[in-house]
Amino acid sequence: MIDNNCSYCVEGELVAKFGIKICELEASKVYLFKEQSHKGRVIVASKFHVSEMIELSDEERNAFFADVNHVANAIHKAFSPDKVNYGAYGDTGHHLHFHLVPKYKDDEFEWGGTFAMDPKRKTLSDAEYDAIIAELKKCL
Ligand SMILES: [Zn+2]
Repeated sequence: MIDNNCSYCVEGELVAKFGIKICELEASKVYLFKEQSHKGRVIVASKFHVSEMIELSDEERNAFFADVNHVANAIHKAFSPDKVNYGAYGDTGHHLHFHLVPKYKDDEFEWGGTFAMDPKRKTLSDAEYDAIIAELKKCL
């Protein structure tokens, strides 16, 4: 099922407001989050327009979480964060997705706490986004 008002279903301009598509994996779509206060922050969205993980079959859910794990592994390899935080929200949107947010001890911003959904603090140039995506892709 596709929802024509959903960023992750429609992509294009709706995704461009907050993200840049990196690739598709078996069960997911991967986007760089444009707000890069936490270097390497990405979103892993299910290929299915479902609100909850309980709406997926066991096979679909296992494939989705294998992708989340795969992307987390790439973040660890590419950027060596001290911790990756995970967030799955969506009270108003209804498409299962995880925020993977690398946290760094040597960056005081939000270390030791939860991450803001959009701190509106740090956006990058296109070349800088491209460089981060290239680093991640080497490890995906
Ligand atoms: Zn959707």
